[in-house]
Amino acid sequence: MIPYALKNGEPVSIAKARRGLACGCVCPACGNRVMAKKGAARVHHFSHYKMEECPHALESSLHLAAKAILLRSGKIRLPALELHGFERLLCHEKDWPFDQVVLEKRHGQVIPDIALIKGQRKILVEAAVTHAVGPAKLHRLRQLNLPVLEIDVAAIHLELTGLGLAGDPRAFARKLVEETRHKKWLFHPWQQAVEYRIRQAALRKKVRINARYRRFTVDGCPLKKRILRSGPMAGTAYADLWQDCYFCPFCFEIEYRNKQVGYRELQDRPDAVICRANLGTEEEVLKGL
Ligand code: SF4
Ligand SMILES: [Zn+2]
Repeated sequence: MIPYALKNGEPVSIAKARRGLACGCVCPACGNRVMAKKGAARVHHFSHYKMEECPHALESSLHLAAKAILLRSGKIRLPALELHGFERLLCHEKDWPFDQVVLEKRHGQVIPDIALIKGQRKILVEAAVTHAVGPAKLHRLRQLNLPVLEIDVAAIHLELTGLGLAGDPRAFARKLVEETRHKKWLFHPWQQAVEYRIRQAALRKKVRINARYRRFTVDGCPLKKRILRSGPMAGTAYADLWQDCYFCPFCFEIEYRNKQVGYRELQDRPDAVICRANLGTEEEVLKGL
């Protein structure tokens, strides 16, 4: 079911199209004629005229609509920026006005769907429809060191279909521009830089295997979660990896050792805990940035 088609190179929503072939539209994927089906029984949609639906019609249709809407909107609501392992946000969600939209222009090794530009600042946007951005493309996008936002336009379309608003351009635009429910940061250089600094400043505590008790432990827990009761190290503090560190608000990350299985590299056993207890509370860490 195609909610947006092309007429004279411009996207047209099913809500605004004339019924049947009189709509004068073509499929945005294959360029063949489509008719506007606006009956009483089914959700209004475009359908290929005297041929099978082509496989990429929905994807192209939603891409087209998203790009056309962003070209006109001049602003977008950006989702909050989270910090790994923190409850506090690095940045709350906010409106971001932009003055230029560039569609499918090569940036280095990759062609992002959309680039939104405001002065010297640029945000790349990926409009996900049938599949999210794959690891290879994401790697190339990250190398650009620019914020990359993913908008799940298929989820927006599905939500609107459920509300009986499929093909309603105003509802689609509102969800795309003003809401953040179907948006997520795939990469943000600010977040990356802050997390790198925290990781560098935090304590890297080696995980030890306690074979006798079949436990993973970490020596010198700053919170003194547990105290050794006997042996030459009696009285020193330690933590149990799964019972203490895993639930501890100061546990920034658990690093794993990898092992090679055939041609694949798999996570083996925990190797170290990145413990940020030495940096203070979340508030103190964020204040010190
Ligand atoms: S992460 Fe928490 S429990 Fe683990 S060593 Fe650090 S302070 Fe102790
Ligand atoms: Zn088609």
